[in-house]
Amino acid sequence: MMKNISFMRGRKLFGIFTSDEKKVETRKARRKEKDAGTTEDPKLYLEEAALERQLPELDLRMLVDLPPGLDYNEWLASHTLALFDHINLFYGTISEFCTSTGCPDMTGPGLRTYLWFDEKGKKTRVAAPQYIDYVMTFTQRTVSDETIFPTKYANEFPSSFESIVRKILRLLYHVVAHIYHCHFREVALLGLHAHLNCVFAHLTLLNQRFNLIDAKETEILGDLEAALLGDSTSGTSTTTSIQDPPSGAT
Ligand SMILES: [Zn+2]
Repeated sequence: MMKNISFMRGRKLFGIFTSDEKKVETRKARRKEKDAGTTEDPKLYLEEAALERQLPELDLRMLVDLPPGLDYNEWLASHTLALFDHINLFYGTISEFCTSTGCPDMTGPGLRTYLWFDEKGKKTRVAAPQYIDYVMTFTQRTVSDETIFPTKYANEFPSSFESIVRKILRLLYHVVAHIYHCHFREVALLGLHAHLNCVFAHLTLLNQRFNLIDAKETEILGDLEAALLGDSTSGTSTTTSIQDPPSGAT
């Protein structure tokens, strides 16, 4: 049933994306030519029809709010695990299109290139599939480490837990940025754009709520953030204009 729905979505969008296909086809060629150019390609993911999402924003905001009485680290752990699972699975569906020849660099929007920091802290230029493999391996190893992500009753989170989560979320953000930047056409043709937008919204709202990723990391998808979630990036400006009515007696 899910397949049918996805298929329909793909069909619906197909017209839009085929009309842009030529642009996209030449995109890679042009990218090679300019390499250090200053202009950016049109962003397919900002097309009106591509902005579908699986859940309304309000539900997602509630999804990230820390329930009363629940431990903050526990909450961060569960969202980090969910995001890792979803992004890992998602990348798996398009990984055949992400090759070291097609994606020789780990790029994101805004002409951004991510370099991998090896164990010794040395920056290395690696192809996108290699970079993403490092991200997934690192994350898998970290979330399976009982001393970092404890699952047994008596075990506690380390004091560095939040900074480890920040690192994981930053790296996962790079993966999402790369998918939007280089593989959105394939995503849309597979009818998976709403799922991707939903994962992005989850990651973004979690970050907006707990401030876990540096603004210089998230600015590259700021336009998508605004298109999908409205201009709620500055938490201070909205508080003056929106007065939440008390939601039922407490
Ligand atoms: Zn790629």
